[in-house]
Amino acid sequence: MGSRIKRWIETDTGHRVPNHKSMCSNMHGHRYRWEAELEGDIITETGVSDEGMVMDFSDVSKILTTYIHDMVDHAFIVYEGDEEAIRALSHMSDNHRTFVVPFIPTAENLAKWAFDVVEEQISSVYGNDLKLYAFHVRETPKSWASWYGE
Ligand SMILES: [Zn+2]
Repeated sequence: MGSRIKRWIETDTGHRVPNHKSMCSNMHGHRYRWEAELEGDIITETGVSDEGMVMDFSDVSKILTTYIHDMVDHAFIVYEGDEEAIRALSHMSDNHRTFVVPFIPTAENLAKWAFDVVEEQISSVYGNDLKLYAFHVRETPKSWASWYGE
């Protein structure tokens, strides 16, 4: 129980779903939205910058920027088992942004990955039971996936 806040960032990122029955097996990209949802008590410590907040939005944004945006923006996310795409990407120059992951980069799997990455960066400085509640990934305006913590 407590209050929940959300903050998102966006990236332009390529991927493909190798064994998809239709169009998604083609290399393509999305304007992804990466949204963290945090839960905690409202900080009551008087006089601190975060008083009245669950967590400062700008601090959430910094984590999302460093650990999500700077990793996958204008990058191509590829499954390590996708030999065909790995082979194709190996022909790109060394400065091509290829981001290899151990899972098929669907919105569902990306939401779980982002949850784990961001959760590691969340710490409750004020003892307000702060935690990452969920991570939501928007692949298209009509398509979202969410991962919820334990
Ligand atoms: Zn796609």
